[in-house]
Amino acid sequence: MLSQVVELIENKQNFAITTHVRPDGDGIGSSLGLCWLLRSLGKNAEVIVRDGIPISYTLLPGAEEIRQISQVNGKYDAIFVIECSDINRPGIKGLENQITVNIDHHATSEHFGTINWIDATASAVGEMIYNLCKAIGGRITKEIAECVYLALVTDTGSFHFSNTTERTLKIASELVKVGVKPARISEAVYNSYPWSRIELMRQVLATVKRDADGKVAWMRQTHAMSENANAVDGDNSGFVNIPLAAKEVEAVVYMRETAPNNYRVSLRSKGDINVARVAEKFGGGGHKNAAGCRVEGDWDEKECEIVSALIRAVE
Ligand code: 5GP
Ligand code: MN
Repeated sequence: MLSQVVELIENKQNFAITTHVRPDGDGIGSSLGLCWLLRSLGKNAEVIVRDGIPISYTLLPGAEEIRQISQVNGKYDAIFVIECSDINRPGIKGLENQITVNIDHHATSEHFGTINWIDATASAVGEMIYNLCKAIGGRITKEIAECVYLALVTDTGSFHFSNTTERTLKIASELVKVGVKPARISEAVYNSYPWSRIELMRQVLATVKRDADGKVAWMRQTHAMSENANAVDGDNSGFVNIPLAAKEVEAVVYMRETAPNNYRVSLRSKGDINVARVAEKFGGGGHKNAAGCRVEGDWDEKECEIVSALIRAVE
């Protein structure tokens, strides 16, 4: 819990921070935000991740210092693990032998850390980093503010997903007061992709289908599409939300081929439809309106199973 995190920071000096493989805005923004907070308190801190960070997040202060590693090789008093369901999610070897602090806003997180601070009411881990800063009596510097703001923007879909609360907006307001320029962050996150994103979008959207009621939509991204588009990691980010723009669409399945017969599945919904429940049936998890899982097998068969489960959830 939070008080244990505060106590640990006060009593120790050398920290590393990591997040999940293929990091998203909340993972990177929260990790860097925490890194700046620790440094502002006179601590040594660095961010270590397995994968490269998407170009949209490179404007964040400290992004250029992030170290890409696959094995823990430093000497740390503790390692913060941001937004990870389990100890293997960062994809970094040797974490299991370290003192770890699990910070997450997914209720489904395994309590794998030496300390576990899970707050499922937070819209993003970024919100928790802000709360930590306040709890420890730190000052929200411009660096912390930019990182936390990016985390909030990406995890709330620019403050329009259902996880956006009064508290989220209040925090965002304070971050802007400290010097964040919302338009600059939005430009970097949403309007700085390579053209390959548009090429990929053209192909993926050509596959979209919907059920007889038009309430459930599904689409796919094959390996060949990524090749044709010359796509890079992150080019497909947010594609799953596109069909939700239609009024009658209440849930979407997005399947991406990661290897022959292996797929990453993203699920999205509106309102009360709980896609986390559907994802759990297939060994995944997530939030009510945004969840995911991995599946293996024949594409049409798996798609049919997931779409059917979603249609039942909508009914
Ligand atoms: P996305 O579709 O953006 O990859 O994931 C949406 C949400 O679902 C995220 O908040 C993520 O935590 C959750 N999620 C996605 N894939 C998995 C998975 O394989 N297992 C679990 N437990 N959660 C997942
Ligand atoms: Mn998050």
